[in-house]
Amino acid sequence: MGIDVDCFVHPPPAALICPICTDIASSPLAVCDEAHILCASCYDNLLKSHRENGHKSKKYPRCPTCRGSTTEADESVLAERIIQSLSVKCGVHDYGCSWTGNYDDLFKHVKKCPLNAFPCHHSKLGCDASLRSHELAVHTVSCPVLQNTPAKLLSDLAAIVKRINCDSLAKHERKQHKTYEGYLQALRDACKRREEEQKEPYRA
Ligand SMILES: [Zn+2]
Ligand SMILES: [Zn+2]
Ligand SMILES: [Zn+2]
Ligand SMILES: [Zn+2]
Repeated sequence: MGIDVDCFVHPPPAALICPICTDIASSPLAVCDEAHILCASCYDNLLKSHRENGHKSKKYPRCPTCRGSTTEADESVLAERIIQSLSVKCGVHDYGCSWTGNYDDLFKHVKKCPLNAFPCHHSKLGCDASLRSHELAVHTVSCPVLQNTPAKLLSDLAAIVKRINCDSLAKHERKQHKTYEGYLQALRDACKRREEEQKEPYRA
């Protein structure tokens, strides 16, 4: 499996496409005298099926592009370098993320993409919600596992709201963020009231 052609900002050169998976070759190998490329994993599969199918006369399969003979495949450093330099889009581009950059930076971006989905902070407590980062704050304070909010969770919660980087939020989201802080305060007050009523701490 290679890299989906749709990830790239501009259609990449056809020479970078792996003929087996029809994606842009990942960890490209030059396999024949013409230096046609295949993904390393696609080449492994090709080699495996070639040997399993009992082609004993020929140790190596033919190049799927030119049918020329292949020998030990070599890493195609040049192809790899070109692929790394191509502009790619964020995986959630179609949902509104306008980020573009080179392939190397994509992994850094994905970690902080405002539209990427993250698991709820209470996933360990049994919540299986998956949300985009700007929705996470509001979910965090209204998460179903918090129906009986133990007081100790409130401090975690406060830390989470604090950790959300306001600079990465759009103007309307920043406004929402203020609201989340309001929710948190309301939740804190409610817990305090209940604690006073019941005269015993809440259990997780
Ligand atoms: Zn491939
Ligand atoms: Zn070839
Ligand atoms: Zn993004
Ligand atoms: Zn949750």
